[in-house]
Amino acid sequence: MQLSVSALKIANSHQQNHIALLQDITQRKEMEQALRYNNDHDRWTGLYNRSFLERLLAEDADRTLHEKRAVVGINLVEIQSLTSRYGFQYTQKLIKKIVAALLDHCSGTRSLFCTYENRFVFYIKNYTDKQDLIRFSQEIAATLKEHLAPERIGGGISIVEINQDNAYAVEQLLKDLLIASEYAMRDAEHELGVCYYDDQLAANFARRQDIEDELIRVAASKADDGLYLHYQPVLDLKTGRICAFEALTRLHSDMLGNLSPAEFIPIAEEAKLILPIGRKIVSQALCFLKRLHESGFESVSVLINISIIQLIDHEFSRNLFQVIRDVRVNPESIGLEITESVFAADFDRINRILGVLDRAGLHVSIDDFGTGYSSFSREQDLNIKSLKIDKSFVDGIMQTDPDKTVIADIIAMAHKFDHITIAEGVEHEKQLRYLKACGCDWIQGYLVSRPLDENAALDFLARFETR
Ligand code: C2E
Ligand code: MG
Ligand code: MG
Repeated sequence: MQLSVSALKIANSHQQNHIALLQDITQRKEMEQALRYNNDHDRWTGLYNRSFLERLLAEDADRTLHEKRAVVGINLVEIQSLTSRYGFQYTQKLIKKIVAALLDHCSGTRSLFCTYENRFVFYIKNYTDKQDLIRFSQEIAATLKEHLAPERIGGGISIVEINQDNAYAVEQLLKDLLIASEYAMRDAEHELGVCYYDDQLAANFARRQDIEDELIRVAASKADDGLYLHYQPVLDLKTGRICAFEALTRLHSDMLGNLSPAEFIPIAEEAKLILPIGRKIVSQALCFLKRLHESGFESVSVLINISIIQLIDHEFSRNLFQVIRDVRVNPESIGLEITESVFAADFDRINRILGVLDRAGLHVSIDDFGTGYSSFSREQDLNIKSLKIDKSFVDGIMQTDPDKTVIADIIAMAHKFDHITIAEGVEHEKQLRYLKACGCDWIQGYLVSRPLDENAALDFLARFETR
């Protein structure tokens, strides 16, 4: 049978429509699949992503009540520092290599997810106990170290066990995992720490948050609001007179009571709140200096502790000189104490800032000398006037054969560079005698006096002068 030309045309067009429809369905299906894939996967690593993990954890909370389950987090945030040095491609390639290495640790009961661009999670089922998880995390640390140590960066590994209390709060669970990974990084700077999330860590974190809230309140307040200074006298061993007071910050909070600077200053530094709070500290200290001079003690200085974050803030010197002018005090009566972290940070830049302060007449010292990054070769080049020898060396005078301590060497070396030496934490007569014999210039410690409030400090000085 022969089809007419028009019938053929109709048949062809039907067939074409049919094919087009099939193509359309296939395309839609492919698109849906691609969409679902993109929804559930991280684009770069191809691993399942955070929203997939969240769904899985929520489903398993219903399903697997009696199975042991945990998440192990890997925080590689430090890897971002490589991007500014070597570029985006370099970092991304390194992440791919790390993921390939981590995949070797997957099994039927361990799967890997990419929850954020530089954060990963192992979801683990049917493990034995906490020790089993710690062992696994240490294996992960060893694997990561192979890739991160050559880059001189670290990371944080955290463990959260899933139980009846947290199984349904998936978002909180992942937040706890992140918090613990940050603790792990903080405890093991540039290394790979492992941190297990427990009630103690949760309590520490809550206290940190409370202190940070308190610091935010103080920073924002017009008044000093619980932030005040105590002053510890410094004795000049050559003249036998009080030559300075060190300003030591205290914080009183209605909710938390009295807080020690050893606890709240590091929190203020991390949250950058040390900048506004540091300005309040400087103002209070300079007002005290003014009061000292107006009371007739013109030769006495005030020493103020300054964090490196303050020092490198581009407004620091300008603000400081402004307060000096406002309060009308002599810059030569002001000492600034900075810790040894200057040696680790950008040395030349910091030294330029120290040079500006030094030329303005301020007296800069290195605090806690001997505990951290100190190096005599660098000390020689630093624009400073004095070294504060850390208390641990002064303690050593009591504990060991004094001849074996390095204090005498530190003092001799500092004097070679024309630097004044200050020994801190002097509590006993024996230490005083030894330091005097070594030629130490100034001492500070409970033997002379504990830190005092403003009025007590002035009384102390008046009594000391008329002894
Ligand atoms: P630091 O600057 O090395 O201050 C010396 C610390 O040793 C002070 O502790 C002081 O009270 C304590 N101390 C002094 N003499 C003795 C002694 O004979 N025996 C013992 N056991 N301790 C003694 P404090 O006041 O708790 O301050 C701790 C640290 O907090 C300071 O160490 C300083 O690093 C930091 N800090 C204090 N105030 C400020 C501040 O205003 N700004 C900054 N950035 N840090 C501050
Ligand atoms: Mg100090
Ligand atoms: Mg110190």
